[in-house]
Amino acid sequence: MTRRDCLALGLLPAGAADAAPPRVSISARSMRLDLVNTWTTVMSSSDYRETLAVRVTGGGIMGIGEGAPIVRYNESAAEGVKIVEGLQSTFAGVDLAQYAKVLDQLFAKVPGAWATKAAIDIALHDWAAKRLGVPLWKMWGLDANDAPQTTFSIGIDKAEVIRRKVREAAAYPVLKIKVGLANDEEVIDAVRAETKKPLRVDANEGWKTVDEAVRKIKWLETQGVEFIEQPMPAAMLTETGEVRKRVNIPIFADECCLHPEDIPRIAPYFDGINVKVDKAGGLRQAMRMIEMARALQLKVMVGCMVSSSLAITAAAQLSPLIDYADLDGNLLIKNDPFDGVKVVNGKLVLPARPGVGVIDRPGAPR
Ligand code: MG
Repeated sequence: MTRRDCLALGLLPAGAADAAPPRVSISARSMRLDLVNTWTTVMSSSDYRETLAVRVTGGGIMGIGEGAPIVRYNESAAEGVKIVEGLQSTFAGVDLAQYAKVLDQLFAKVPGAWATKAAIDIALHDWAAKRLGVPLWKMWGLDANDAPQTTFSIGIDKAEVIRRKVREAAAYPVLKIKVGLANDEEVIDAVRAETKKPLRVDANEGWKTVDEAVRKIKWLETQGVEFIEQPMPAAMLTETGEVRKRVNIPIFADECCLHPEDIPRIAPYFDGINVKVDKAGGLRQAMRMIEMARALQLKVMVGCMVSSSLAITAAAQLSPLIDYADLDGNLLIKNDPFDGVKVVNGKLVLPARPGVGVIDRPGAPR
């Protein structure tokens, strides 16, 4: 007699059909995302980005996730695809309902590769919330109405291009401006020639001495800048602390604060942190960073990489917990395959659909 026969005849206890975890499959592909404008920061300049899309299927439910590999950390989408292929036999036997345990196993097995782990983590959370039939923010007990406004980012460029980008960003009430190269004043002057909106400024480690950072920040204070992100190189913590004592606007950490364990070390030198799901290794790690930052009285921003609406909507699920959002990576591309979180009057509006809540964008290239 087969197991199915036993079940049909009532010879196995109720629920026995669920005893064996469903067979699970995992796959990955790279996605080429074309940028609306060439994107320049202190670190690089590019016309497109490759991200990693992950799909986890089990029990008739499909979870999807995305991570943006970061060249600085020796990551690539192609490497991510290989890592996921290497995990297929491990995943075949897991119980996706116990996704926290699956993540523990993943982190024990795969060193580094944070964006790949982020893509898998998002796919697992998407799967788990879809299984319960609720949006992820609801599974976490959050109120979507608490989601903040998001900034819209303006990359480093010539003055006339910046002015055009600022005009195009008319719908966004707060702008995030990238500086840190030789033309900082020119960049801010170009922005201010077009708008009086509040600004947040990201120097991406661009200023190399305390005096330079203090001088630039003091000037930015006169330009309606709310706070400054990573003014000095990640390793210059003591110097950043010196800068902080001499200026009046808050200083946020980004490049020196990638994972939960970084926060106690950097906390004395900063007022807040920028949490990025791709760098942290997923939503669970990002949630740990938010909780730890709160325990240390730090402000919290959630930022992003250039990504499709999949990664951005996943990160936005955390946004009811935070002070500031910089979740515009999907707004910078012109071939977004997904439809998810919206920005209405600058505020993030989370989807009410189950899971992360993204759907294929009708007519989008696949
Ligand atoms: Mg930054």
